[in-house]
Amino acid sequence: MLLCKKIRLEVSEQDAATLEFMQGKCRGLYNWQVMRLRTGEKWLGVYEAKKTLQASKQYDPELEYVYSKLLHEVYYRLDGAMQAFFRRLANGETPGFPRVRPRHSFFTLCYPAMYIKVEGDKFILPTGGKGKHKRFPNIVARLTEEVPPTFREVAISRDARGNYYASFVSEQPEQPSTDTGVIAFDLGIKTLATGVNEQGRVYTIGGFKGARWYNKQLDKLRSKRDRCKKKSRRYIHLSKVYKRVSEKKRNKQQDSLHKASHLIAHKLVASTVVVGDLSQRQMVTKQHIERNKHLNRSVFNEWGCYSFVQMLVYKCLLYGKDFQTISECDTSKMCSGCGHKQAMPLYKRTYRCGNCGLVMDRDENSAHNILMRFLARRGPYTGGPVRCADVFTATEYI
Ligand SMILES: [Zn+2]
Repeated sequence: MLLCKKIRLEVSEQDAATLEFMQGKCRGLYNWQVMRLRTGEKWLGVYEAKKTLQASKQYDPELEYVYSKLLHEVYYRLDGAMQAFFRRLANGETPGFPRVRPRHSFFTLCYPAMYIKVEGDKFILPTGGKGKHKRFPNIVARLTEEVPPTFREVAISRDARGNYYASFVSEQPEQPSTDTGVIAFDLGIKTLATGVNEQGRVYTIGGFKGARWYNKQLDKLRSKRDRCKKKSRRYIHLSKVYKRVSEKKRNKQQDSLHKASHLIAHKLVASTVVVGDLSQRQMVTKQHIERNKHLNRSVFNEWGCYSFVQMLVYKCLLYGKDFQTISECDTSKMCSGCGHKQAMPLYKRTYRCGNCGLVMDRDENSAHNILMRFLARRGPYTGGPVRCADVFTATEYI
């Protein structure tokens, strides 16, 4: 499977300026094309669009200084956006037209692998022009990590704090797995994932706990900053600190998600991982909003459930596990002992069955239900016919 490795680059000030210049020009070209398409011009495909590049260069001679492969890549990206637009239109959806890219965000530069040189930890990116037409020397950056032995494509990007990254796309072999058994997970807010296997062993994976502490720090910083005069020295300083702290929080959270999904996909002895299908989920109900303000915030902001599932999908594929999703309709309402259904608003953390007296943790109960439903291979119990269409395999996600 294709995996992407993102490596931070150490870039000199001059090279950073070159990168900014090139991304600015690429974005300009992209936006100019988008604006023309928005006024009703027809998109004739990459090859037709590429022919207009010479005319564009006449119009803006500075495009000469940008590496031409990067400019070609702009057309491919626009083509991708347009094709996606047409495909969704054909499917009867109502897609938004491709948008112009704003100035404050970095326009990712895509280099095909063959034009890039890696010498030790040195990383050389070509710029445009020849001889005296070359205004910017080639960029020489330092890589902070080892590059994968073979790679196809490299994307250069920048984050909000001004760090530059190179993402290497490379082919990784999938490892076969010898494990057997099924493990089902319920994803939640308080505990990231609660799992149960066929033997009835329960796993609880806590997830990132420091969000509240970080939120407090961030709130303090923000309120301090907002009392300053805009664009003052103190304001700019506090903005920097704010960005640094929020990056730290984000990194810690991402790290915990990676660790949790690695644990599930690699360490636990099971060949099949089942989770509830998130697309039908309605997390925030009105009652919930009134009840629990800070939990609310965690639902909206700190809840990396979606990216967690994506990590699980690719990690399961990498380690030879079978990843399945199943409809989780009513899994938290139903008693896993007797099938009795009762209302379970989100603030109720313990399931107390009114019928058979079963007392169980809320997430544990729904994990049991997901497991049973998967083993029975059927949809939510409605008395209707068996619905196998609720079961998808991981490959359909990619
Ligand atoms: Zn019961």
